[in-house]
Amino acid sequence: MIESPLLEKLTGYIGGRWTDNAQGNTFDVYNPATGEVIAQAASMSEDEVKAAVAAGKSALRLTSPYSIETRRKWLEDIRDALKANKEEVGRILCMEHGKPLQEAQGEVDYAAGFFDYCSKHIQALDAHTIPEKPKDCTWTVHYRPVGVTGLITPWNFPIGMIAKKLSAALAAGCPSVIKPASETPLTMVALFSLMDKHTDMPDGMVNLVMGKASVIGKVLCESPDVPMLSFTGSTEVGRKLIQDTAEQVKKLALELGGNAPFIVFDDADLDAAADNLIANKFRGGGQTCVCANRIFVHEKVADAFGEKLAERVNKMTVGDGINGGVDLGPLINKAGFDKVKRHLEDALEKGAGLVAGKKPEELGNDLFFPPTVVTDVTSDMFCYREETFGPLVPMALFRTEEEVIEAGNDTEFGLASYVFTGDAERAQRVAAGLRFGHCGWNTGTGPTPEAPFGGMKASGIGREGGLEGLFEFVEAQTVPRGF
Ligand code: ADP
Repeated sequence: MIESPLLEKLTGYIGGRWTDNAQGNTFDVYNPATGEVIAQAASMSEDEVKAAVAAGKSALRLTSPYSIETRRKWLEDIRDALKANKEEVGRILCMEHGKPLQEAQGEVDYAAGFFDYCSKHIQALDAHTIPEKPKDCTWTVHYRPVGVTGLITPWNFPIGMIAKKLSAALAAGCPSVIKPASETPLTMVALFSLMDKHTDMPDGMVNLVMGKASVIGKVLCESPDVPMLSFTGSTEVGRKLIQDTAEQVKKLALELGGNAPFIVFDDADLDAAADNLIANKFRGGGQTCVCANRIFVHEKVADAFGEKLAERVNKMTVGDGINGGVDLGPLINKAGFDKVKRHLEDALEKGAGLVAGKKPEELGNDLFFPPTVVTDVTSDMFCYREETFGPLVPMALFRTEEEVIEAGNDTEFGLASYVFTGDAERAQRVAAGLRFGHCGWNTGTGPTPEAPFGGMKASGIGREGGLEGLFEFVEAQTVPRGF
């Protein structure tokens, strides 16, 4: 069992109080590196989720809103608490997610960055008067909090994903009811411990509910007191939330699946492209929605690039992330492991060649999947059509710019993409042609607090980060004054 001063309670947090499930129901939390149960967390009932919504409603202030200074102070206090407790929060995150300790602690810094950004730009949410005087009136634009928001997060960035949502919600003055993924609830509990101790937010401003997605999702979708949901997760669940909130026309911010193309032209710096691909692809064990999923390599440089990848991949250390010197941890669970294995088997059966890694029959029974590179991938393979969410690098060969733009777009998704070329004009053309919310040119870097990030097509609605992210949780209201 995990011991931590930040995990004294493993219950929900409703209306400013740690709240257990009345029936004592719990669920197990595992360490994917060891397979051990490390905690049992409270599973909330429908009534408890409703109580969390009611607590949020009581914290919402419309006629006498929380001042910008008050909201800024909440954000600064959370940022400071995260930074001061980076090591311990990162350790908890590492143990329930499996990513290497240093990477987990880096995620805590990344999360603090969102609270910092919002605290520094919150002034943008101040009311302003528009300079023209249309219709002989003086027009003031106010940014009102949307109301109580449901924030639903996945397991792949247990602190990063909530930071993106919560920072903007608090900046806007929105109370929230937060549901973490059941694989990684402990990092969220740690965040609530910090908020409980180090901020003076009113009771009900932040509420934590853990447990069954169906129970919690139902209340959040059906309650008229929750006008907005912000969700990060699969497109499948995103679609369900769209359907389940259609009746009430709720505001939705959705960050859904990806199928990122990573394009390497023959004029690219191949070493830089290989380094960036390794950093991008193996972040979080390859389990992020911005991880390169289809690697398009110009046929002239395909062999050379494959060799560079193999060289790098063969040096990587796979193991329990809590130990130093580990590059790649385990996959989150058996289903995740089996999916990557199925994608590898399918690719090899359909004619792909193994460049680095192990054959499927050589894999062990634990959740550690070695970094694997395959080449000659084609569009009929699972690893090309679906998001693999694991450390498999599938290379597909291409000849022309037009062909690769079309191939890159040949997916319902449109989240992250990457292009490596020494030709600036080509980079501009390719970025403009790719229908993806993010297109890295000679970099595999992902989202940052300072810039808006989000998906086109089936990858989502709305943006997180940047001023655009800050504005997601407000409703603009115009007040024209006649006299
Ligand atoms: P992943 O494949 O990353 O686990 P999911 O979309 O299944 O993605 O889950 C992301 C988050 O959404 C998790 O917190 C999960 O518990 C939650 N979730 C899953 N189904 C629902 C639902 N019907 N309503 C609300 N939340 C849900």
